[in-house]
Amino acid sequence: MTGRPEARASDLSGSLRLYRRLLGYAWPYKLVFLAALAGMIVMSGTGAAFAALMRPLVDQGLVDKDPEMIRLVPPLIIAIFFVRIFANFLAEYSIHWVGRRVTYDLRQALFAHLVRLPAQFYDVTPTGGLISRLIFNIEQISRSVTDAVLVVVRDGLTVIALLGYMFYLDWRLTVLFLVLAPVTALLMRAMSRRFRKTSHQIQASVADISQVMREAAEGHRVVKAFAGEKAEINAFGRANEQNRRHAMRKVAVSSIGIGLLQLTAVVALAVVIQFAMMSSDITAGVFVSYVTAATLIMNPAKQLTKINEVIQTGLAAAQSAFTLLDEPPETDTGAVRLERVRGRIEYRHVHFRYPTAAVPALHDISFTVEPGQTLALVGLSGSGKTTIAALLPRFYRVTSGEIRVDEVNIDEIGLADLRSHIALVGQETLLFDDSIRRNIAYGPDEPVDEARLDRAVRAAHVLEFAAQLPEGLDTRVGERGARLSGGQRQRVAIARALYKDAPILILDEATSALDTESERYVQEAMAKLRENRTTLVIAHRLSTVERADRILVLAKGRIVESGTHAELLAREGVYANLYRRQFAEA
Ligand code: ADP
Repeated sequence: MTGRPEARASDLSGSLRLYRRLLGYAWPYKLVFLAALAGMIVMSGTGAAFAALMRPLVDQGLVDKDPEMIRLVPPLIIAIFFVRIFANFLAEYSIHWVGRRVTYDLRQALFAHLVRLPAQFYDVTPTGGLISRLIFNIEQISRSVTDAVLVVVRDGLTVIALLGYMFYLDWRLTVLFLVLAPVTALLMRAMSRRFRKTSHQIQASVADISQVMREAAEGHRVVKAFAGEKAEINAFGRANEQNRRHAMRKVAVSSIGIGLLQLTAVVALAVVIQFAMMSSDITAGVFVSYVTAATLIMNPAKQLTKINEVIQTGLAAAQSAFTLLDEPPETDTGAVRLERVRGRIEYRHVHFRYPTAAVPALHDISFTVEPGQTLALVGLSGSGKTTIAALLPRFYRVTSGEIRVDEVNIDEIGLADLRSHIALVGQETLLFDDSIRRNIAYGPDEPVDEARLDRAVRAAHVLEFAAQLPEGLDTRVGERGARLSGGQRQRVAIARALYKDAPILILDEATSALDTESERYVQEAMAKLRENRTTLVIAHRLSTVERADRILVLAKGRIVESGTHAELLAREGVYANLYRRQFAEA
């Protein structure tokens, strides 16, 4: 992006690589692409044909009044334009067809890639930027693909055909006309560098805009409760202003540039007219024909200069899309398939540090949970409970040590297979804005198993409240389940885990207290869910710790105590303290 020569050289090879990669997406549609090219080639010929027709039209038709010419010219003009219109349709339609395909494929590829990116990617990437790249940037790529080809090929060929004809008519005039071409080239180069830079800035500002919007919408309660409206509006204003300023800078470069280019063209034309008038061997027909060609060349030439902006924008967008596509997906090297999982879990000397953190979150964690047993994790907030649970479905990979399921290191198990044996009930029970039914039967895109769904909604006490809703299980729950109460959301999440019917369960109990009625339902549903499953539960409830087969007490990422509720109470240590503070009032 700088003016240093080496930077520019790598810029060029980078651009070529980008083009080639982008072309890879258009390659499957090369036949339609060829049809488009054919249309463009024919089209470019019609401009020159029209200019050429001017010469006999004036010299023979208008000056000599040749009857044959008078008869021939009008239908010829219609024929030329007939061909032109058809060729243009073929070119435009086909190239846009390819462009929309490329958009579709790229968007689909990007989304498919995004859902396979590891948890750590989402820890550091603002969602707003992802959304704007998926929507805005890819749209720009599509424009760049279609318009660029259309203009470069169609208008480029038109310019070449017309120039060729002008040379044929009078090469001296044309040389004069072209003297100013180098000025044009220099202007264009200066413009293109600025374009790519402002395009990147505009894309970044759109990402900021969507991020602020997303956070304000998702956190609307916080915004309202803490009177954050003004602050949000201001934050939005800053992003919006950035966007406006960069867009205007682009307009300024574009319009000043185009003005200068037009000026050079008009000067060239004036010079040509001057010489033509002074020359003795130029007939009226040649002159009209020549000026027609020179005029016809202006618009495609202008398009050609403007297209650089579109190409640079598209390249900038492609670059950001490809950067995302190049993010490494979750490592999934495991090849072992677990047929029937009994549900034994073992952590062996597990150490873990978040990729973004300076200090480890877990130190030397070792424990075993036998099939069907329940292990409760307790400890102050930040002690590492959630982290321990997140390692089991391999949302993150252990830094050292190993985790085994049924004696197999989870690194050796295929990711999808491993996760198919684990059900998750999170503390923020994330529901999708869909029906209760679809939320419970969430998972691989398969038809809903009605019998299984029925069992799940009964066992999780979802039926009790779903029956009251206008559309029963088909009622939409709203974004993040906004239309349900906290207890109802939890019951839906429990039903989802029951529906999945996996042998291993990770349960993150809600910290917030529910009303007694909801609480009873949730507890009953949880108890049903834990039956015959190995359960890792992040415990916040007295009843849970009392019933657990074993409790691990964590502090600062280490296991400090372990045993049953009674054993730990008797020890009068960390747990006994914690119990008195955290659980006793329940
Ligand atoms: P708990 O569940 O006991 O409240 P966590 O397992 O969430 O504790 O957190 C343990 C430690 O790891 C904390 O110091 C927390 O700041 C850190 N941590 C949690 N999640 C992340 C993350 N995604 N990236 C970096 N650090 C994290």
